[in-house]
Amino acid sequence: MSVKAAGVKKAEAVAWFDEIDKSSLPVAGGKGANLGEMVKIKLPVPEGFVVTAQAYAAFIEEAGIKEEIAKILSKTDVNDSKALERASRKIRKLIESREMPERIKGEIAKAYEKLQKEYKAGYVAVRSSATAEDLPEASFAGQQDTFLNVKGVDNLLGAIKKCWSSLFTPRAIFYRETNNIEHDRVLIAVVVQKMVNAKKSGVMFTAHPMSGERDKIVIEAVFGLGEGIVSGRITPDHYVVDKNNFEIVEKMINKKEKMIVRGNDGSTEEVATPSSIAEKQVLDESEIISIAKFGKRIEEHYGFPQDIEWAVENGKIYILQSRPMTVIYGEEEKSREESQEEVLVKGLGASPGIGSGAVKLLRSSEELDKVKEGDVLVTTMTNPDMVPAMKRASAIVTDEGGMTCHAAIVSRELGIPAVVGAGNATKVLKENMLVTVDGSRGVVYRGKAKKEEIKEEEKVAYVQPAIVTATEVKVNLSVPDEKVAKRLAKISDGVGLLRVEHIILGLGRHPLDFIRKGEEEKFVNELYKQLKIVVSAFYPKLVYVRTLDAPTDEFRSLKGGEDEPYEHNPMLGWRGIRRGIAQRELLRAEFKAIKKLVEENYNNIGVMIPLVQHPDELIEAKKIAEEAELKPHKDVQFGIMVEIPAAALIIEDFIKAGMDFISFGTNDLTQYTLAVDRNNERVASIFNEKHPAVLKLIERVIKICNERGVVTSICGQAGSDPEMVEKLVKLGITSVSANPDAVERVREVIARTEKKLILDALRKAKADG
Ligand code: PEP
Ligand code: MG
Repeated sequence: MSVKAAGVKKAEAVAWFDEIDKSSLPVAGGKGANLGEMVKIKLPVPEGFVVTAQAYAAFIEEAGIKEEIAKILSKTDVNDSKALERASRKIRKLIESREMPERIKGEIAKAYEKLQKEYKAGYVAVRSSATAEDLPEASFAGQQDTFLNVKGVDNLLGAIKKCWSSLFTPRAIFYRETNNIEHDRVLIAVVVQKMVNAKKSGVMFTAHPMSGERDKIVIEAVFGLGEGIVSGRITPDHYVVDKNNFEIVEKMINKKEKMIVRGNDGSTEEVATPSSIAEKQVLDESEIISIAKFGKRIEEHYGFPQDIEWAVENGKIYILQSRPMTVIYGEEEKSREESQEEVLVKGLGASPGIGSGAVKLLRSSEELDKVKEGDVLVTTMTNPDMVPAMKRASAIVTDEGGMTCHAAIVSRELGIPAVVGAGNATKVLKENMLVTVDGSRGVVYRGKAKKEEIKEEEKVAYVQPAIVTATEVKVNLSVPDEKVAKRLAKISDGVGLLRVEHIILGLGRHPLDFIRKGEEEKFVNELYKQLKIVVSAFYPKLVYVRTLDAPTDEFRSLKGGEDEPYEHNPMLGWRGIRRGIAQRELLRAEFKAIKKLVEENYNNIGVMIPLVQHPDELIEAKKIAEEAELKPHKDVQFGIMVEIPAAALIIEDFIKAGMDFISFGTNDLTQYTLAVDRNNERVASIFNEKHPAVLKLIERVIKICNERGVVTSICGQAGSDPEMVEKLVKLGITSVSANPDAVERVREVIARTEKKLILDALRKAKADG
């Protein structure tokens, strides 16, 4: 696309709206081009101009700060949030403190004067307008930077520079770095526009947003400025117009208790609407029809239903903005029915059930507030920071991950449908798109599911089990939530795995940062409080608390995690007990938290040590527990995860070192036995927990443990697989710990298998005479 589009020369710093159109995106940015296009089709847009993207580029060049910006960026580790903030501040200051070239300043001042004189502008609005069409919004991020009620050239120049510098917010820098977008590829234009001091304002949808009827126009109107509608503070009048004959088919006149007005200093304030007009109809019939006619014209021009902002000042109607409607409910539902369930993306069904709602794309944990109750959370991969937003979501979709990734584990616990490993979900699914997520089959459809599709029984059932089995049925947990824990305590025989890393990573601060800054107690208390939620909800049922097992890469993003080493293969690296021994203050602090629970007479705790490969590690772990005054085998049961083949092959030596129980971590045991990365989709098809070699290791361990009185359990994903559970019960495992959604199914399989075993034994006894 030529930057000379619509008569704007590359070097010009200013372009009036009537000099640009929708082809001027590289010059005027999206917002500017859109305003130009509306002027071109003779819509009454408040007058204004664009400070071109080329003006910004020239400023950066002529101010001589290009290299300096590049230098700051090249030295910044964007994963270090503090360093990122610092870099952002430095660059923004650099931009805002530099003088604009006289030529650019002159052009802007001249245009501003014209706006004042010819168009009686008074106050102007200054808005960032992002340029590159093919890049997502987050590569600009500064677009929200809007300055209203700006008056005077100096203030205007200041506001423009602030818009420019908003190209370097921490979020925008982070996004571009992590998506390999060169920083200098992204330019920014600025819109300067006369502010309308509206007596009446509102919005218009050129299709009915709820019913989806394309032949209806919906107008909402308030007295004063339009902010009240957008924020939902004022209930507007509501008019529906037939698009074919402009007949007003529906009118709802509401009492508008408040209105937003502009004060003398330009700022806006909320005041009581004079009682003489509060209950009056805002727009008269001819205004309703005129506005609707503009709506029809705009929709026809763009070829898609539009969401339009309008205002009336001194009897003149202005069109302020127009953008495509993002959500048309009825349409979405209809389109789903018509399209026979159009599949948008596919992945792994990681948590069963059907959830439906508007897509919210989370690019970082800073955006959590975006996800409201019932939305569908879509992200590359969730992390512990995101749990509060996950709890509000009706479904979760991630690009990455397998059945044991964070999103899968947490959504199963929370009973929220989830699809993981969906590849390009964050690209295909767009913000606010209505979708339905089928977490059982691993598909995401266009459109909202009908209520009856979201069947109650698809959600995790929480009824007291009627069947009692000899093999215990336990549950895996990672996010302590009192309600969830209490419900799960009713349907299971205990917790077979409480993963503390989700709790610890969720604190947002590296545990060593607490400890090294003399705040160990704070960390211990926090962990104790979270553990207590589960231990007390399940009391007196046993809870196996597994000590920290997070790979180094997961620690790095935490506050104070800057010094985490970079490892070629974190899965084979410094995790589990090996780290606990190397940094014993860390493991000791965890034991201190458990000790606090023991002091409150919680005698239902088992401590489970992850990733052990040699009995010395078990012995050392017990020493560290003693250092925290936690007595293994007395205060708490003490055991290990069997998840490295080495441990399975010399299980006798571990028993000699003293332990009460073992639990199979089949996720890792399979990964290490078969040399198959558990998180790599490319080899997922050969990741097989029922591989004969894995089963051989399991059989060996159960047999020896049973002979020597050591309790056995499983807490890997395979514990939720009915076929595997049947095998384990036949091998004589003591308990099975399943994902919350699988507890019932597992209990049934166990019951049936046990009955079969009894029958077989009876038959055999009979046959033997
Ligand atoms: C396992 O390895 O099977 C296990 C339960 O531990 P995690 O998935 O946390 O590594
Ligand atoms: Mg493991």
